[in-house]
Amino acid sequence: MKRFLSSLSFFAFILIFSVSNLYAEKPYVLIISMDGFRWDYLDRGITPHILKMADGGVRAIGFEPAFPSKTFPNHYSIVTGLFPQNHGLVNNRFFNPSTGERYKVGDTVSVRDDKWYRGETLWETATRQGVKSASFFWPGSETHLAYKHPTYFKHYDGTVTHEQRIQGIIDWLQLPESQRPHLLFLYFSDTDDFGHRFGPDAPELNQAVKRLDEKLGLLRQKLAAIDMLDKVNIILLSDHGMTKLYPDRVINLTQMVDMTALQFAGYGPLVQFFTKNRAEQIQLIKTLQSKGKGFSVYTKETIPTYYHYSANSFIGDVILVAEPGYSFVTSQRELEFKKKHNPKGDHGYDNRVLDMQGIFIANGPAFKTNYKTVTLLNVDVYPLVCKILGIIPNQMIDGRLERIEQVLK
Ligand code: AMP
Ligand code: ZN
Ligand code: ZN
Repeated sequence: MKRFLSSLSFFAFILIFSVSNLYAEKPYVLIISMDGFRWDYLDRGITPHILKMADGGVRAIGFEPAFPSKTFPNHYSIVTGLFPQNHGLVNNRFFNPSTGERYKVGDTVSVRDDKWYRGETLWETATRQGVKSASFFWPGSETHLAYKHPTYFKHYDGTVTHEQRIQGIIDWLQLPESQRPHLLFLYFSDTDDFGHRFGPDAPELNQAVKRLDEKLGLLRQKLAAIDMLDKVNIILLSDHGMTKLYPDRVINLTQMVDMTALQFAGYGPLVQFFTKNRAEQIQLIKTLQSKGKGFSVYTKETIPTYYHYSANSFIGDVILVAEPGYSFVTSQRELEFKKKHNPKGDHGYDNRVLDMQGIFIANGPAFKTNYKTVTLLNVDVYPLVCKILGIIPNQMIDGRLERIEQVLK
């Protein structure tokens, strides 16, 4: 009798467990990017909503971008778990030296052309395993090939208001379950725009930070109103930080070498050359090293290992990286543009420089509460999100779950 009762209770337990599992909601992940949000903006006393979210969840001391610390390479690293040399977006602007074809942020033709995108994105991994996805803007989300873009996505339009973007997320989350995305993306550019225009220490930048903080508050309020605040795992992150530019720290390459005779790509913090032969490469390096101040000259062999920036034919064979605060100009036109607009901040430099670090805050049912952790790497987000969603990650990645999973309950 005793044995009968104990096996009965065992079956009852199994039954209840299976039924509750059947009705347990599948996890949600929402990744929000605030472009160029430097790690220390959170310590300025102007971000109450973000800090509240951090208190109830996880906050990393910093968030390390991949090299170059630019927008497109990093947003794509976050969703693929790959360093730029492996996913193909080696800068915001670059070209294929064997065909001459160009990729450029802002050029809708190249940005939507799937041939440039060599990584498997989170939304691809998710779709293949039955999880729908949606993006209210994300670099790399607008490709033509259906299997390479999220289930729902928007073509980038910087004039769409913050409220419209937030409402878009809320609307997607209210779709019937059979159509509802469980992996969502949201993007805001203000901290980057104001950081470039006014510099990372300017009051105008602080106002932009405040405004975005309020928008996070609005989003959380709207999630609460549809009873989803406790259900959605939110990861708030940034692609890189920002450093102050100095007007007298301009490196005019046209005064050092004949730029019209050389094949090169890049601007600002990073310029790379594609030389015709070894002799030209050696001569160029010699000239630049003798004349240069405020920058490093590398080859694919000498570039620091942690840049992971050599194994791609779109990367040049002479790579110039400016010191933070310095900036390259490669033509007279660029010099005039710089004088006229006088940008006060930039990024794209060495990814381990403190000013290039961004933020990583996470909150939701999957995450620990009131938990501070070490500086995280952005390539580790891909395996983390797969783990939360319960999907099998692409194995051929640079990201590692072991470096980030401490943030999970
Ligand atoms: P950057 O500071 O040059 O690395 O790039 C930041 C800029 O990229 C932002 O100011 C946006 O205008 C632009 N941007 C961000 N996301 C997209 C996108 N999905 N498509 C086109 N442009 C974008
Ligand atoms: Zn950016
Ligand atoms: Zn920027």
